[in-house]
Amino acid sequence: MDYNLSDEHLMLKDQVRKFCETELVPKARELDESQGFPWDIYKKAGALGYVGSYLPVEYGGAGGDLFAKAIIGEEFVRACFGFNLSANAADLLFCNNVNKHGTEDQKKKYLPPICRGEALGSWCLTEPGAGSDALGIKSSCVRDGDHFILNGSKTFITNAPEAKYFIMITREPGSKKMEGGTAFILERGMKGLSTGAKFDKMGGRCSPTGEVFMEDLRVHKDQVLGAPGRAFHQMFASLDVERSLTPFSSIGIAQAALEVAAKYALERVQFGKPIAEYQLIQEKIARIATGVEIVRTYAYKVVWMVMNGKKVSKEAAMIKYYASRMVQHAVHDALQIFGGYGYMKEYPIERYYRDSRMLEIGAGTTEIQKTIVAREIFREYK
Ligand SMILES: Cc1cc2nc3c(=O)[nH]c(=O)nc-3n(C[C@H](O)[C@H](O)[C@H](O)COP(=O)(O)OP(=O)(O)OC[C@H]3O[C@@H](n4cnc5c(N)ncnc54)[C@H](O)[C@@H]3O)c2cc1C
Repeated sequence: MDYNLSDEHLMLKDQVRKFCETELVPKARELDESQGFPWDIYKKAGALGYVGSYLPVEYGGAGGDLFAKAIIGEEFVRACFGFNLSANAADLLFCNNVNKHGTEDQKKKYLPPICRGEALGSWCLTEPGAGSDALGIKSSCVRDGDHFILNGSKTFITNAPEAKYFIMITREPGSKKMEGGTAFILERGMKGLSTGAKFDKMGGRCSPTGEVFMEDLRVHKDQVLGAPGRAFHQMFASLDVERSLTPFSSIGIAQAALEVAAKYALERVQFGKPIAEYQLIQEKIARIATGVEIVRTYAYKVVWMVMNGKKVSKEAAMIKYYASRMVQHAVHDALQIFGGYGYMKEYPIERYYRDSRMLEIGAGTTEIQKTIVAREIFREYK
């Protein structure tokens, strides 16, 4: 098992770090305040191959591996969590599913504009009445010859207010559990498709989140993604890749928190010496740094497993939940090191604190990850 980063990966990390330091870090606070998605930076990232980095070159991707995607994700988040939240919804949630289950025509049409950073995609599952209980969705699709008629609404959808493309998960009325789900690729402008206003969020604020509505939306069968009736099977087949990469968001925020807290502790003088010299401050720094290193190492192991075709339902759930807990402790300790200044917007730690909270909710809550881990463990010991 070798999940060390190669020289090429380290070079990529260095390049993405420089890009983020120049483009994203100086604007992160302003983006947080304005809640505006930075299309200009997204386009530059696309031109450099940082959007769709792991997708095949023939569809506009950079042809990299999942380690490269993890590196880019961590660096984006270290600079601006919201930027990565949107980029990830586009080039992972949307594109990974199209790449895995789409037809040749669909891949050629929908992947390149996202890889170029010219369009955002979104993945629409959650509904007002169905969050953790994903199979409980009510949005419906009814067959009508070569077409389907879609009705229903989705909420909390990343990129919805500004996305050009939508993967829409629906259910045939009367179908149950894993059967009867059908996914469609929808495009903004289709008659019967509309989106709501941008939600005002606690964190990840430059990432537009909102609702999607379908009202007698008539869509041709060519827009089905994968096979009709197979959406939930497809969804679970793609989930391991998505869950194995999500922890790098937790790692990115924790890494950023560690850096600012360590620097501050060395500079801040109380009782005649830098607070870094007090053991209670050292204990916090040690705890944050240890969490980041250990979680990052295991996260790469899980990505390596995915890259090598291993089943990772348990491992991906473990690292997703553990990483999102780790970052909560990290931002808590880091903010404490800043004292009152940590509570002010002048320093980025209060933004990291807010941003990190989403990581225990999105892509399956901590509670749901724990139930998956326990289910897999009981399966092993039965
Ligand atoms: C910023 C943001 C972006 C998002 N982006 C997207 C997106 O792009 N696409 C998309 O489809 N969705 C998206 N979501 C939705 C997200 O996936 C859901 O919020 C999440 O799955 C939880 O669903 P819920 O909010 O309805 O909470 P609920 O499912 O109602 O859960 C409420 C609480 O009950 C707990 N709970 C529920 N069931 C159980 C159980 N069986 N055992 C123990 N505890 C349980 C949960 O863990 C949670 O603590 C996004 C959410 C946020 C906040």
